[in-house]
Amino acid sequence: MTQTNLDALINSLDGIEIITDSTQVAKLSQDYHTFSPVLVPKLEGKVGDIVVRPINEAEVLKVAAVCAKYRVPVTVRGAGTGNYGQCVPLHGGVILDMTQMQKVFWVKPGVVRVEAGIKLAAIDKKTREIGWEIRMAPSTYRTATIGGFIGGGSGGIGSIQYGSLRDRGNILALRVVTVEDEPRAIELRGDDIQKVNHAWGINGIITEVEIPLAPAYPWAEVVVTFDEFMTAAKFGQALGNADGMIKKLISVFASPIPQYFHALQQYIPEGTHPVFLIIAESSLELLPSLVQEYGGQITYEKQAQEAGKGTHLAEFTWNHTTLHARNVDTGITYLQSMFPRDRSLQLVEQMYHHFGDEVMMHLEFCRVNGTVVANALQLVRYTTEERLNEIIHYHEEKGVSIANPHTYIIEDGGRKIIDPEQLKFKEIVDPYGLMNPGKSKVIQFQIHN
Ligand code: FAD
Repeated sequence: MTQTNLDALINSLDGIEIITDSTQVAKLSQDYHTFSPVLVPKLEGKVGDIVVRPINEAEVLKVAAVCAKYRVPVTVRGAGTGNYGQCVPLHGGVILDMTQMQKVFWVKPGVVRVEAGIKLAAIDKKTREIGWEIRMAPSTYRTATIGGFIGGGSGGIGSIQYGSLRDRGNILALRVVTVEDEPRAIELRGDDIQKVNHAWGINGIITEVEIPLAPAYPWAEVVVTFDEFMTAAKFGQALGNADGMIKKLISVFASPIPQYFHALQQYIPEGTHPVFLIIAESSLELLPSLVQEYGGQITYEKQAQEAGKGTHLAEFTWNHTTLHARNVDTGITYLQSMFPRDRSLQLVEQMYHHFGDEVMMHLEFCRVNGTVVANALQLVRYTTEERLNEIIHYHEEKGVSIANPHTYIIEDGGRKIIDPEQLKFKEIVDPYGLMNPGKSKVIQFQIHN
């Protein structure tokens, strides 16, 4: 952006908080794509020109109008915990930091309506007052925003019970601001929310979110260890299938992954394969017999009353596993996979033996279309990009679907193609192609050619 345009832009935003300090702007242009050695060089030096921090929708509308007028790219940002450079601006411009928009409009049994910049944990704090909580959350629950989770996330703790964000019914309504000459706020409900769900901030600025809630059970945290990895995995599947037992997390780790979990070391004997559980206290009584059936040992148990304090088991699961591993060894990266529905977990077993220590198995059980399946965020000992692609292709050939976390292009990641409805909506909400440009192949083609 030319200095003249930048000055004009800043003047037009009078009254709205703006950050111009280059160190701060660079920091707020980053996310956690650093987990990928492939993405790091590709996104090096990509920074915005300024950061703008609106406090309400009226300010978002004003920023959108100014960006449309000066044809300035807008990259929306929540907490910046995404993993694929989702909120790293490829073409400079405005970083729209939504974290000041934290209002809870109302809560009623089973539903809450909030502003998009509120942290997930802050939503629960309010909804738990009446015995409800959000249905699912990433392991970045304490820092991530609801707008960022919907814009870039997929599921997490709670997905064993409720599936993923993309499942019908897990988002009730979204309100988005368009980036056009005269920006509008549009309310989407029902299936229309899919036009914006997981759209990486290219299809309008989400200002408000209405989501369904789940009963807030008293949750206990448990670690069970097994001598064999496959027994641990089969135990996880069996607990997942036990519909009468209420749980929100079943994570399985192949040895030597637990060596990266310093705070839990004493509960995981060397060489064993642990399963981390978050389970309703009312279901705890049923757990020992199932554990015994599979020859496991319960080595750690924290009652619900204590679970909010000290170590949070959830913060060792999902992509926090990768975080802990990389804190010890930066040569480690990861994959995101979904194994086909198979209660006997044959393909999990085959991959576990095939790659050995190079691809360390980490399973997260989830409900997918009504059945419990093994998702995986395997840890990979990275050597070269070529080898990483070989590993990905081997999985895909065998029928494991990979949401590639080593790309910043939407179509090359999890979704493979952009939903045609999202494309149509894009033309309405972002006619100048200013929203997070460069993240989609198709849209680049449509807007700029
Ligand atoms: P950001 O990173 O700021 O944004 C994510 C995307 O959403 C960007 O494309 C951005 O442009 C867009 N966006 C943000 N706000 C808005 C808005 N208001 N309107 C429109 N678009 C918007 N993800 C999971 O799904 N499950 C996990 O368990 C999980 N675990 C993780 C663990 C670690 C250690 C890390 C680093 C990441 C993990 N993630 C996980 C990824 C990420 O933390 C989550 O997806 C999180 O919800 C993103 O929220 P955020 O506020 O940080 O979003």
